[in-house]
Amino acid sequence: MMEPLTDPFGRIHDYIRISVTDRCNLRCIYCMPAEGMQFQPQDEIMSFEEIAAVVGALAPAGLRKVRLTGGEPLVRKDLEKLVAMLAEIPGIEDLSLTTNGLLLPGKAESLKRAGLSRVNISLDSLRQERFAQITRGGEVSKVLKGIEAAAAAGLAPIKLNVVLMKGINDDEIRDFIGLTLNQPLHVRFIEYMPIGSASDSWRQTYLPLETVVSACHEAGWTTEEAALTAGGGPSQNRRIVGAEGTFGLIHPVSEHFCDNCNRLRLTADGHIKACLYWQDEYDVRPLTGDPDAVRAMFRQALGNKPHNHEMALALEKKAQSHTPTARRMSQIGG
Ligand code: SAM
Ligand code: SF4
Repeated sequence: MMEPLTDPFGRIHDYIRISVTDRCNLRCIYCMPAEGMQFQPQDEIMSFEEIAAVVGALAPAGLRKVRLTGGEPLVRKDLEKLVAMLAEIPGIEDLSLTTNGLLLPGKAESLKRAGLSRVNISLDSLRQERFAQITRGGEVSKVLKGIEAAAAAGLAPIKLNVVLMKGINDDEIRDFIGLTLNQPLHVRFIEYMPIGSASDSWRQTYLPLETVVSACHEAGWTTEEAALTAGGGPSQNRRIVGAEGTFGLIHPVSEHFCDNCNRLRLTADGHIKACLYWQDEYDVRPLTGDPDAVRAMFRQALGNKPHNHEMALALEKKAQSHTPTARRMSQIGG
């Protein structure tokens, strides 16, 4: 086999997160501004053929996992076609999608048929008024229908992503964990990250995930370590004894998991990001006709990948070693 996609710290990269659009049908407060977001013109967005060419070039070098994200990936027309193209590439073992779930009722089955393995669905509140406030207008009942549609289509295991925010949804930790008691759902609490700007409002709302552990103790729940669900990843997983589902903690800020980072990222306009946090990018789109050149550019990006992000320094307003990205999370894909 070809040499794997390795960085100077010996980390092997077998996973890519691909943003298929920077557009979205919601405007979550931690992700996009309410107004004035400049979307990329259609002709600057990678075509399905270009995306498949990148994945096809990386698979022989050991790429095994692909996640489609956005913006909202399901607003990209005919996404099933891209899924089918990627599912055919030899070596790709896990093809997943991160979505806000709104459009899943109409698409879950066709995505499954096209070869999608599973979905992560973002849901930060189970209460309508609050959900509308966080997403600036979304309807929680539609996301719940999306979860049902994903389950019915067999897009399992289903993970629910919950960004935890102080004073906004931290009183719902028990409600979310409660969802795992009788359903095979995997709730993952994620720390709020300072992407796009480490603003004072972020500092005020950021909450370390110790809070989830305390909430379990207060509820009197006995938890046990849970085996990793498909896809693994940086979450520490636990289960209430006897529950069908699990819950996990992803704490990029308070306890970075960079030592085991295996992730590459591709923005909707075709820029490689070796790290979510820093501004360094490599424009691979002009090279998609040449697999050797695509691989060479990914290796160059990995050659310059820093060992870790420094989000914790942003929390303390301390100087950082590189420049953080100016892109919003919706442009990177999370
Ligand atoms: N629209 C899809 C969705 O919401 O699932 C996919 C794109 S969204 C950018 C991917 C993930 O990033 C979501 O789970 C979202 O909650 C998370 N996210 C966005 N901004 C974030 C932030 N500042 N900190 C932590 N997670 C964030
Ligand atoms: Fe859209 Fe997802 Fe960002 Fe919310 S988190 S605005 S759903 S891209």
